[in-house]
Amino acid sequence: MIDANVVRDHAVAPDADRAVVPAKRPARDPADRSVAVASTVVFDVRRLSKTYHMGEVDVHALSEVSLTLPEHEFVVLLGPSGSGKSTLLNILGGLDVPTSGEVWYHDQEITHASEAALTGYRRRHVGFVFQFYNLIPSLTALENVALVTDIAAAPMPAVEALRMVHLEDRRDHFPSQLSGGEQQRIAIARAIAKRPSVLLCDEPTGALDISTGVVVLDALARINAELGTTTVVITHNAAISAMADRVIRLADGRIASIEVRAARKLAPRELSW
Ligand code: ADP
Ligand code: MG
Repeated sequence: MIDANVVRDHAVAPDADRAVVPAKRPARDPADRSVAVASTVVFDVRRLSKTYHMGEVDVHALSEVSLTLPEHEFVVLLGPSGSGKSTLLNILGGLDVPTSGEVWYHDQEITHASEAALTGYRRRHVGFVFQFYNLIPSLTALENVALVTDIAAAPMPAVEALRMVHLEDRRDHFPSQLSGGEQQRIAIARAIAKRPSVLLCDEPTGALDISTGVVVLDALARINAELGTTTVVITHNAAISAMADRVIRLADGRIASIEVRAARKLAPRELSW
């Protein structure tokens, strides 16, 4: 298991996600005004809980989390360490399953899907970016991206994905010949090359200094704007909120606040750290 974008998806039949039980997503609470009527909801999360049993102790990583995410948004997920951010992101991406509750991806309920259906869901619809880049050291930048485009249904050419992150001139470099920020941008190119509808990023700038982080955030903002990829970014850095359409704060496994930002979104270069 080297990378969630690549290796987990190799063994899947192309139509595996048809195995998801067809079901109609029940209507949302009519009092829920968090999503404009006209926008399409990508994720509808309902009373999601995740409890880890650690010997005698129950750890409530998520407790009754409910939220909706409209498509095309740039969402920042904030919260202290241990507040459940990664658990939530992993469940949205089909890498983990909750203890209770539901996650609807459009009209598919993913938390009760079979492992094969979940793999098909990840393969078709989800790109992941993690704090550490998980590139394959013996492959060039282009080859790392092509690993994904080789198995995707309608990918962009690998070089096009490198262009989106402004690294087409590094196509023949190996990961060891690239800086941390450049490696992260290659990882982003790899995640978006299959044209996922959602891009889930767990502390993508966590290992980078500020100026390098800005370049990485710039790539994420550009992809969100140009491809319309619904993007969720976990960060410890509240300054990044100013880039977002929506800011979700978690505390102790619960939603502390959801802010739909009305102010102009700042470019990463305009953030004050
Ligand atoms: P965050 O990403 O906000 O730092 P996590 O979602 O990783 O938080 O973790 C939330 C809580 O769940 C923490 O208390 C963490 O220790 C616990 N936790 C996360 N993953 C596991 C696991 N695999 N086994 C046991 N506890 C876990
Ligand atoms: Mg985390």
